[in-house]
Amino acid sequence: MLVVKLGGAAGIDFQPLVADVASLIHSGEKVVLVHGGSAAADELSHKLGYPPQHFFSPSGVKSRYTDKKTLEIMLMACAGQLNKLLVAALQAQGVNAVGLTGLDGQLITAKRKKAVRAQKDGRVIVIRDDYSGQIEHINSGLIQLLLQADYVPVISSFALSEEGEALNVDADRVAAQVAVAIKADALVLLTNVPGLLQNPADHSTLIDRIAESALASYEDVAQGKMKKKLLAAKEAVAGGISQVIIADARKKLPVSQALAQEGTVITP
Ligand code: ADP
Repeated sequence: MLVVKLGGAAGIDFQPLVADVASLIHSGEKVVLVHGGSAAADELSHKLGYPPQHFFSPSGVKSRYTDKKTLEIMLMACAGQLNKLLVAALQAQGVNAVGLTGLDGQLITAKRKKAVRAQKDGRVIVIRDDYSGQIEHINSGLIQLLLQADYVPVISSFALSEEGEALNVDADRVAAQVAVAIKADALVLLTNVPGLLQNPADHSTLIDRIAESALASYEDVAQGKMKKKLLAAKEAVAGGISQVIIADARKKLPVSQALAQEGTVITP
């Protein structure tokens, strides 16, 4: 059993991934797909005249500012369009994919971050109208139900709050939590770089293997959203996943090549 997260960054063609996932499924593998959609959301935000905004947490982690309008745009772009295009592409390859968000069947519940601390002009400010959440629970029963009936879940990273609101949740963290909840054999985080790089500007500086106990020493190497991938990898390994592979989505066989250890492999 495998959880694959497809990055949402620009420049990723998901056809090779879909073809690769389809052949793994046809050979008997059980796969759950999780996706973000940052590029699709950015594109739609610009088209609608409501450009995306980001902020940095006091510890330097970059996040999207998700006010209500941004959340609605993200739902349109990620859950509405990207999720359905992925489902259609999988169906075209003979895979019976079911697209769903974390809201459907309470697949993912989360706690809304009602006061988010952010850096602004050298000061720390508090954002109170953000609709993003901290994952609390994964309904693994629903995922198992689908997998047992030979459906392939394609999960768009939104969650349901205690108050019944839609929340944006980080797709890398969703993938990690889903992998832990269903006791997956591996978690593959596909992105637009070959893995964790010692120097992000030089793709030949791939760090190929990291033990979970050594992850903290790479915190400064990972910038921006790569920090969240390391956090997700840590959560997954701590939750019992025996390997997390951060790998390149642009390869010919992105998932198979990741499983063949091409990328950064994080192990217990
Ligand atoms: P995705 O949408 O695939 O989740 P992100 O854009 O969020 O991807 O994260 C991947 C990006 O992280 C890379 O494109 C790269 O610019 C950036 N990054 C920062 N630090 C590193 C690093 N040390 N190694 C690799 N990528 C890094």
